Amino acid sequence: MTDTSVLAPTGVVGRFAPTPSGRMHLGNILCALAAWLSVRKQQGTMVLRIEDLDAGRCAFGEQIELLKHDLEWLGLTWDKGGEEEGYQSNRFPIYETYFDTLKERGLLYPCYCSRAELHAATAPHGSDGQVLYDGKCRERFLRGEAPPEGRRPAYRVIVPDETVTFTDRIQGEYREHLKSECTDFVVRRSDGVYAYQLAVVIDDGLTGVTEIVRGRDLLSSTPRQIWLYRTFGMRVPQFAHIPLLLAPDGRRLSKRDGDLDIGALEKKLGTPEPIIGLLGYLLGLIDRPDPITAQELVPYFDFDKIPKNDICLCDMGW
Ligand code: GLU
Repeated sequence: MTDTSVLAPTGVVGRFAPTPSGRMHLGNILCALAAWLSVRKQQGTMVLRIEDLDAGRCAFGEQIELLKHDLEWLGLTWDKGGEEEGYQSNRFPIYETYFDTLKERGLLYPCYCSRAELHAATAPHGSDGQVLYDGKCRERFLRGEAPPEGRRPAYRVIVPDETVTFTDRIQGEYREHLKSECTDFVVRRSDGVYAYQLAVVIDDGLTGVTEIVRGRDLLSSTPRQIWLYRTFGMRVPQFAHIPLLLAPDGRRLSKRDGDLDIGALEKKLGTPEPIIGLLGYLLGLIDRPDPITAQELVPYFDFDKIPKNDICLCDMGW
């Protein structure tokens, strides 16, 4: 395994980790802005990593150029990354090394359960709506049963009977019991693609990321990820989970809300300041949603001002 201690820099390192699956929307930018402001206020280093694990199935080329354009247009610059070796699709050999380590340590087993089996009506769900796994294939594996024919397995990691607790800089103390609330989770899918949960830890760990600022929808992934950092002997970063933006009708913003994507807003507004002003206001950093540049917002940044709960764009006229 790579020795990560030599790679860990001394200063603050933050990151943008966008998935290039569509044009970024205001919610994505809200997280990116908070991540950037925090790093800039501490004079740290900002890294851009492209989370294109599914690149084999999707053509991401143009999307990646657009997301770089959008970040730059908004003034959210990065100091490192953004080049091909930072793309997750080019890092499979690195993930494989860590996957092999887990395997050698007896922490993995093949899972042959089909999607239909996993999503059976009776399957219990975790706090993030994910199906909790009942450990069926772990039992089969431990009993040495022959695998079902003709199916390629996913690989799950065996989580211990432990509770992981951490203090989120916005959401406060958060804990999950790995065995009952996360359950054994997939680290490599049956199509051979490494899972987000594994790749994100390896990448942030090897890049020496010290703080992760991202959407609240990933709060419940964090205990699993912390456990992986510890398992790999990597330093655990600090976490801050930003509230999600809700569309005026109460739905979570998604990449399908084309009218709130940055391309459409760039065409409509011509300059980024109204967007940064609105997002700075929604983050509780400034008193009014007046136009401002990202750079001008830096001195106002403070995690303590950011609200915990999801934010509705209802009365904002957007
Ligand atoms: N790639 C994820 C996204 O675009 C973010 C993952 C993370 O920040 O850990 O939503």
